Amino acid sequence: MIPAQAFRPGRDVRVVVVGAGFSGIGAAIRLRQAGFRDVVVLEKAPQLGGTWRENTYPGCACDVPSTLYSYSFAPDTAWTRVFAGQPEIHAYLRTTAERFGLGEVLRCGVRVLGARWDPAAARWRLETSDGSYSAAVLVLATGPWHVPRPLEAPGVEDFAGPVLHTARWDHGVDLTGRRVAVVGSGASAVQLVPEIVSRAAEVRLFQRTAPWVLPKPDLPVAAALNWCLDRVPGARRALRAGQFGLQEGLGCAFRHPELARLVEAGARAHLRLAVRDPATRRALTPDYRLGCKRLLTSSTYYQALSQPHVHLHPTAVAAVREKEVVGADGTVAEADVLVTATGFRVGELPLAERLYDADGRTLRAAWAGEPQAYLGSSVSGFPNLFLLLGPNLLGGSTSAISVLEAQLTYLTAALTHLRRTGHTALDVRPAAQASYNATVQKALASTVYNTGGCTSYYLAPSGRNTFAWPWSTGRLVRLLSRFDPGAYTWQAQGVRGPELPETAEAF
Ligand SMILES: Cc1cc2nc3c(=O)[nH]c(=O)nc-3n(C[C@H](O)[C@H](O)[C@H](O)COP(=O)(O)OP(=O)(O)OC[C@H]3O[C@@H](n4cnc5c(N)ncnc54)[C@H](O)[C@@H]3O)c2cc1C
Repeated sequence: MIPAQAFRPGRDVRVVVVGAGFSGIGAAIRLRQAGFRDVVVLEKAPQLGGTWRENTYPGCACDVPSTLYSYSFAPDTAWTRVFAGQPEIHAYLRTTAERFGLGEVLRCGVRVLGARWDPAAARWRLETSDGSYSAAVLVLATGPWHVPRPLEAPGVEDFAGPVLHTARWDHGVDLTGRRVAVVGSGASAVQLVPEIVSRAAEVRLFQRTAPWVLPKPDLPVAAALNWCLDRVPGARRALRAGQFGLQEGLGCAFRHPELARLVEAGARAHLRLAVRDPATRRALTPDYRLGCKRLLTSSTYYQALSQPHVHLHPTAVAAVREKEVVGADGTVAEADVLVTATGFRVGELPLAERLYDADGRTLRAAWAGEPQAYLGSSVSGFPNLFLLLGPNLLGGSTSAISVLEAQLTYLTAALTHLRRTGHTALDVRPAAQASYNATVQKALASTVYNTGGCTSYYLAPSGRNTFAWPWSTGRLVRLLSRFDPGAYTWQAQGVRGPELPETAEAF
């Protein structure tokens, strides 16, 4: 526990948002639009952007079309491609923050070290690298895909050449003419490998699990189309709605095995057309149901793997030596550069171990290895705390922005209710949280996320699915559009006030 004296009196604001990626920037804009002007966004990095500031590896791009992977309240961007690349998305976030005047609320270079709920004052006491803050409301927008997962194999530190992680790309390392070993075959590797094969002398890809890969219709967007979208009223909204419908259709396949088989057939045909060698094709064929892990898209990955100087090692990495990567199957690849495309510690919330409730219990302890929240947003015992892109909200095909915006509607409704009723704090009822999560877990039990025969970051080590949402995104959006005060207890002036009647059906 952080000792009480660590929290010196500091700046007192109504809402502190932690993190300035898509979530934090969106939260600040939406809250200010709803009349909450006293908002501060604390970002540990020197500039905003989150995912899109940190992932600069060659080929980094979104895999949801940009018209959907952008804010609905800031849609008028002339994207140059259907799936914009990292520089364009990062620029979009910077421009949007500027356009909505976030300069005055954004404090970059400030790391939140911990926070404690002070029940008497009904305030979060925050300790940061810039001293103390206190806030009526704390919004955590620190991102599920934020903490890079290192390659866990003995000997990595003995490797003589550069070791890069896709989320920490070193642009000073030139891959031209070098032998590159890439470890991992997830979303980042699928984007990276086609970009580096033309430069590297040799690429050796270590694949523990073959991903399902569909073609990616990544075309340049003609200037004329952007011109039309700007001028035809409702055109961008219609395009966004159409893309949302397509994503929902794909999501529907994850919930209906007969549809999933159709998509699997499409993915197999894609593989057959691109890879001629039957042994390589076999190695690239997933042995689990489509949707169990995140579905990937690329029209260049399989072609890249088919080039003569590119070798697939369908095995985990067992060890790394000074100049070699050793597979669990005994194969050895000599390499000059080691690229770890090993992804993230997904869903891990480092702040959870430094976030204390009124009794000094951390959020991590409350979760005990199984993160859960009411509607992915509120955690019982942690009043006035809101998580963005929290537990059990995302699925394999959803645009995180669709989920985020629905949560922002919920957040502003909750804070508006707090302001209107004059209460100082709201805390989700344990029973509401428990019954909501029981329903979610029951529905997840039969989904492909739980039964598809793979291991994925959707599942906590205990086997509980702490990541995925079992139904359509539309259903989630509808649920989050209704704020139910009865699911919470309400506190007035530092004292727990009379309880509102519990709704019969909290969920
Ligand atoms: C390569 C890549 C591609 C992706 N493509 C897609 C896609 O196509 N579609 C999709 O839906 N999703 C995609 N995602 C997921 C993506 O992370 C989310 O869509 C979204 O960007 C998350 O935004 P965020 O603001 O919640 O988190 P982040 O973007 O991770 O931002 C979190 C911010 O919080 C800051 N922070 C963390 N801890 C602290 C602290 N203690 N104090 C202060 N600041 C802190 C971080 O520095 C960071 O800036 C992709 C992810 C990656 C890695």
